[in-house]
Amino acid sequence: MNYNFKKIYELSISNNINDLGDEWIFFDYREMIDKVGKCICNKKIKNIYRYINKYTGHCIEVGSVCVTNFSLQEKTKTKTKSNINLNFIKMLCYERTEYEQILDSIEYSNEIKQSIIKDYIDNINNNDYEQVKKAIEILKYLMSGTYKNAAIKSKLSTLNIIKNTYEQEFEKQEIKKQQEIKRQQDIKKRDEEYKIQHKIMKQQDIKKRDEEYKIQHKIMKQQRIKEDYDHVKADREREYEREQKQYIEGAESMNDPNKLDYYIDHIVDPEIKQKYVEKKLCLLKIGKQIFTNICIS
Ligand SMILES: [Zn+2]
Repeated sequence: MNYNFKKIYELSISNNINDLGDEWIFFDYREMIDKVGKCICNKKIKNIYRYINKYTGHCIEVGSVCVTNFSLQEKTKTKTKSNINLNFIKMLCYERTEYEQILDSIEYSNEIKQSIIKDYIDNINNNDYEQVKKAIEILKYLMSGTYKNAAIKSKLSTLNIIKNTYEQEFEKQEIKKQQEIKRQQDIKKRDEEYKIQHKIMKQQDIKKRDEEYKIQHKIMKQQRIKEDYDHVKADREREYEREQKQYIEGAESMNDPNKLDYYIDHIVDPEIKQKYVEKKLCLLKIGKQIFTNICIS
């Protein structure tokens, strides 16, 4: 085995160069002014690519040559000079100048792990849900493998609490939103029910008024018929009285007993009828002249 590959294989799960590109996830790139970085091949580097192993959680720095040698994935898009402050570079220089070569690859990984935490995780904005989520994902990578760091664990737990708080809040807002939607739907439903009810009532009213009108109309018609009938009846009664009067007048003025029968027959009132029957008898018995004298006296 090539010496250059020894360290990276120690921190990987595979011993196959073709798998390294899949195992090691590119984290960031920074171009330093001095060779402060230490490539996993032991070379001091200033163009530093940092990677995290997605299975073991180990961290490495790699120079641009070894990115190719190890068949690692390089995010050329982010290959811009990082705007790191000078104090941080000085600190990094001071810390790294002590190392000549990697003696303990685990220790080496942990150190880079800590620098990643310091650079990113410690500086994330807790008020930004997306940043918190990303930080949790990174910490989960760093936690994988055998490296168990109480500080990372505690940080992860804190971030998870923040994330859960966010998600509970989102859930609450979602519930509120759903409640509001339901409330609006209820109002709409009630409105529609009211409209239907109103329509039914209106139709019932129309029907009721129609029926009332029909009844009213029928009553009025019957009243008119009755009035017509009464009118005809009154006319007939008047006609009858007029006729009777004529018959009585006729009977009164008629002195021929034979012609008197015509009037007597038409007189309805029995008392009056009787009166003229008697008149007829008188006329027949004693003749016109005598009857006139008796009756007048
Ligand atoms: Zn190298």
